Amino acid sequence: MAIVELTSGRKFEARDDESLLDAAARSGVSLSYSCKTGRCSSCKCKLLRGETGLLQPEVGLTADEQADGWILGCVRFAVNDIVLEAEDICGFSLPEEKILPCRISEIVLVAPDVVRVLLRFPPNSTFHFFPGQYVNVIGSGGVRRSYSLANADFKNKTLELHIRNVEGGAMSRYWFGQAKVNDLLRICGPLGTFFVRKFNGLDLVFLATGTGIAPVKSILESIHNLPQIEKPRSVHVFWGARTVSDLYLNFMDVVKEYQYTPVLSRSDNRWKGAVGYVQNVFLQNESSDLRNTVVYACGSDRMIHDAKKALEESGLEAKNFHSDAFVSSTDIN
Ligand SMILES: Cc1cc2nc3c(=O)[nH]c(=O)nc-3n(C[C@H](O)[C@H](O)[C@H](O)COP(=O)(O)OP(=O)(O)OC[C@H]3O[C@@H](n4cnc5c(N)ncnc54)[C@H](O)[C@@H]3O)c2cc1C
Repeated sequence: MAIVELTSGRKFEARDDESLLDAAARSGVSLSYSCKTGRCSSCKCKLLRGETGLLQPEVGLTADEQADGWILGCVRFAVNDIVLEAEDICGFSLPEEKILPCRISEIVLVAPDVVRVLLRFPPNSTFHFFPGQYVNVIGSGGVRRSYSLANADFKNKTLELHIRNVEGGAMSRYWFGQAKVNDLLRICGPLGTFFVRKFNGLDLVFLATGTGIAPVKSILESIHNLPQIEKPRSVHVFWGARTVSDLYLNFMDVVKEYQYTPVLSRSDNRWKGAVGYVQNVFLQNESSDLRNTVVYACGSDRMIHDAKKALEESGLEAKNFHSDAFVSSTDIN
């Protein structure tokens, strides 16, 4: 058994047959994570001392990051005692993960390749989550895929998902070809740590592409219910899509008093709004001080990597960038 020490001072034991993330969870230590398959890099941390080994390919890191000592806690185990620089989120007591049965109560095509799904749960069921978290939907035959929650609470015993059609995808075939109202499914969750750490007094910037807007909608709806004193100083949402028909939400209803900039990558002459990539549009437009800014980015892996790099080069502190990459949620074997 090896000892893992975080720079926060917290320590936990880790076996050589479990990931650092699982070892932390077993000891009640919360570290940030998302896909748990070595792809999204939400669990990226720096190895300061000791040795680790690989359980699965570490595809979410570049060669430069690996050379710099970065590792992914979800696919690494401790070979001997190690010291890690990682975000310690033990201050947040993460909601308990559970498996619940549900039925589809609504499924609507809202964009050429996106369905909005409402899942209805039994009247006596309880489910707590932090806005921004995701669930694994378990379909027939046991196929599991991750989807972010798009609503802010469970008051109506309903969860909302926004699902993009991935060409040839197993679960996409179900959602876009077979799914119908009253189908029985199960969900497992809540999962992930894409939730807002602190709102109060900050300038919050949300960068989303495609269905990456789902957890942002959930978070914004929850901000709306915060007491005035806990509200952020400002909120600006940048939502990137290819064409106008991909902007499937009437976002002004959600953002209310906040700023919202839709950004198209394939615009025509009729489009008078922003064009390009969300991170570039944010950096071109933003006059505010990045020292008071915290960025939450969700959607394509490419956007998240590019945005992180561009924002850090412009002065955003690495600890003020949080992300949830919608990478493939198929297990890597
Ligand atoms: C934490 C997390 C949250 C997510 N939330 C959402 C969400 O809210 N809405 C949503 O639409 N999707 C979301 N995804 C992606 C989703 O889980 C599935 O990966 C996606 O729906 C495809 O599943 P599938 O069964 O149709 O395709 P699969 O059968 O899994 O894959 C078919 C092919 O497509 C590739 N592929 C699969 N997924 C992707 C992808 N996302 N990008 C590029 N290539 C891919 C695979 O490598 C494979 O070659 C999330 C993923 C993660 C990890």
